[in-house]
Amino acid sequence: MNFINSLSFARQLDRTDPLKKFRNEFLLPKVNKKPAIYFTGNSLGLQPKSTKKFINEELQDWAKLGVEGHVHSRRPWLYYHKFTKKALAQLVGAKPLEVVAMNQLTVNLHLMMVSFYRPTKERFKIITEAGAFSSDQYAFESQLKWHGQNPDEALIELKPRTGEHTLRTEDIVHAIETHAAQLALVIFGGVQYYTGQFFNIKKITEAAHKAGAYAGFDLAHAVGNVPLNLHRDGADFAVWCSYKYLNSGPGGIAGAFVHERHAKHVDLPRFSGWWGHNEKERFQMKKGFVPMPGVDGWQLSNFPILSGAAHLASLEIFQQAGIKNLRRKSIALTGYLEFLLKEIDPHETSFTILTPERVDERGCQLSIFMNTNGKKVFNTLTKAGVIADWREPNVIRVAPVPLYNTFEEVFRFAEIFKKAIHR
Ligand SMILES: *Cc1c(COP(=O)(O)O)cnc(C)c1O
Repeated sequence: MNFINSLSFARQLDRTDPLKKFRNEFLLPKVNKKPAIYFTGNSLGLQPKSTKKFINEELQDWAKLGVEGHVHSRRPWLYYHKFTKKALAQLVGAKPLEVVAMNQLTVNLHLMMVSFYRPTKERFKIITEAGAFSSDQYAFESQLKWHGQNPDEALIELKPRTGEHTLRTEDIVHAIETHAAQLALVIFGGVQYYTGQFFNIKKITEAAHKAGAYAGFDLAHAVGNVPLNLHRDGADFAVWCSYKYLNSGPGGIAGAFVHERHAKHVDLPRFSGWWGHNEKERFQMKKGFVPMPGVDGWQLSNFPILSGAAHLASLEIFQQAGIKNLRRKSIALTGYLEFLLKEIDPHETSFTILTPERVDERGCQLSIFMNTNGKKVFNTLTKAGVIADWREPNVIRVAPVPLYNTFEEVFRFAEIFKKAIHR
């Protein structure tokens, strides 16, 4: 698309945006009594107006029915995880049997590693990206130590080449080949939280499998942001949270994917609970765990209904909008932001965009590395009504989200940003 640096052009794009009605389905935070420019949907997505209704319905059913709500409420609580399956399957490109909403992200990461990281004397290494989200780093480190491994030896963290900000797929594949004989697990972000790089899930998975290792992905910043094809790409497992692009509320219920090829693999070691047990005899309270087929067999506890209600409210919007349509708008929205930023500083003297230029290597987010005065610029943005995200040492992350952000907001952000760096 050929962009123009003008308010009227931005407004024109908004007028012809086929998804424009969705903004009105969200509650927009205000700063100084005016709607904020909310560019942190990558951190906490906004609240759909319908969330209250979904949660209220559960509160009403609980009040009216008590325990009977498990079977007789409008969305019977016993089967609640099933109501999210269709939408989640579409979002991550999976079969319903392969996805489930459960727990929290880091919990799911541990559960998946229990099954898919079982080091042997020969195969014990994990390959991941350097600078992964802290919780993932702690999960990897603690899993390694739990198995008596030395993280300094067994955890291979890949860094970009000198002078580059993001990893090249060929370098990831090369590292996998190099460590192949000792490799147990390859685990990457879907979209890297700090740089915004969208990793090539297909190529990473293929390389991992060729090496004889499992491939897993943390989709915290990918789900609801970029279209995914976990089934086709062959990933063994994936985990995600629902409070970022999925707008399901702070601390909302997370999700997990296990590929169909492991669906009937009942002997795969795992940590189990009653909700993962064969649902036909779940209430017989018998000895002997028999997992449900598919990822449902990894569930531990009964479903958190209030958090699940918020999840359903949001997933309904995603089904109406369609992830492919959202992606189309997102490419334009983030592309416009990049275009305007480059107009401000064509030679990257004040700042550098860390996020890849290639559209298929990024989602909504651009990570702007400030060469000087980063914190000052960030504070000026905040005062002017922009809600963005600051990451040490010097990065401002901005994520225009296609469900509720507009081209006009991108334009206004760029104007505010330009003034802030020239102050
Ligand atoms: C947001 C995020 C988390 C957060 O973990 P929780 O268990 O949801 O608190 C973990 N990993 C990544 C990559 C994230 O982006």
